[in-house]
Amino acid sequence: MFLARDPDLGSIMTDLHDTLLTLDTHIDIPWPDRNDAWASSSPRQVDVHKAAKGGLRAVCLAAYIPQTSRDAEGHDAAWDRVQAMLKVINGLGGRHDALSAKVCRTASDIRKAANTPGTLAIMPAVENGHAIGGDPSRIALLARDYGVRYMTLTHNGHNALADAAIPRADLGDDPTLHGGLSALGREAIGEMNRHGILVDVSHTSKATMMQAVAQSSTPVVASHSCARALCDHPRNLDDEQLDLLKATGGLIQITAMGSFLKKGGGGTLTDLARHVSYVAKRIGIEHVGVSSDFDGGGGIEGWQDASETPAVTRALLAEGFDEKQIAAIWGGNMLRLLENAEQASSRG
Ligand SMILES: [Zn+2]
Repeated sequence: MFLARDPDLGSIMTDLHDTLLTLDTHIDIPWPDRNDAWASSSPRQVDVHKAAKGGLRAVCLAAYIPQTSRDAEGHDAAWDRVQAMLKVINGLGGRHDALSAKVCRTASDIRKAANTPGTLAIMPAVENGHAIGGDPSRIALLARDYGVRYMTLTHNGHNALADAAIPRADLGDDPTLHGGLSALGREAIGEMNRHGILVDVSHTSKATMMQAVAQSSTPVVASHSCARALCDHPRNLDDEQLDLLKATGGLIQITAMGSFLKKGGGGTLTDLARHVSYVAKRIGIEHVGVSSDFDGGGGIEGWQDASETPAVTRALLAEGFDEKQIAAIWGGNMLRLLENAEQASSRG
């Protein structure tokens, strides 16, 4: 299954990286917006120029909603903020000089845009189900008005839908609130399935994750998490959770967060490749991918911004993955999940 390790990867590498549909499945946007996504030089880890330089072809951009109080005031503010952020994400398409960016709503749109030279495919996403302000009927609007294709059920801190992996003591959280999903959370998953929005279990508690997998009619994704067997962090998925992803066709996207990759922090690209390899060996190559969490705290030595994306392909080659496997890790698997969700949605 795995190629022998080869320290001299230079020539294979140059050819391979440019042929890949590289999809980074979790990137935040700075907020408030600084109108700098197209700037030739910006403090962002991901902008159009850095993506082009690094051969990054497609990105999931998340409207991140911090957890606040689960009352009318907190809910109204969250719903206002997510719409404002999604308007910014949806406004990023365009063309300047030799570069283009296109906001995409389907896997087929992403493939088409990403395979057009000089074009960055952008897929809108939401981080934290708190965004819907406790009203699952708004999920239809997220899909229809803003093209949202995944939503994490929680961020840090329990919300009206579900328990989080990391409770927020400062918001008065006990270790658990609902024991996993609430009735509202189950309803929200039904709406997400109906409208082709993937259920993202990154940030949720283990109980929430296990229940969400059972509740969802399509496979779930963990858009930015790592393997708990290699690094015991509450944001990571343990072996039982990985086995459940295998059994249900789900996906985990190993992320460039040093503290999720290595106990105590300081994880490297080699660690990231080891996590990918661990998951691939345990549950299969079709259930694992990669993400950066750039502009949201992600970034490790050698992969500090989108311009350094080839380093990831190099690390995967060094770990012994072949071209077909790397293509699946870099985007093929996530596109399959998006297609599943689209088909289930159109079947109604
Ligand atoms: Zn996150």
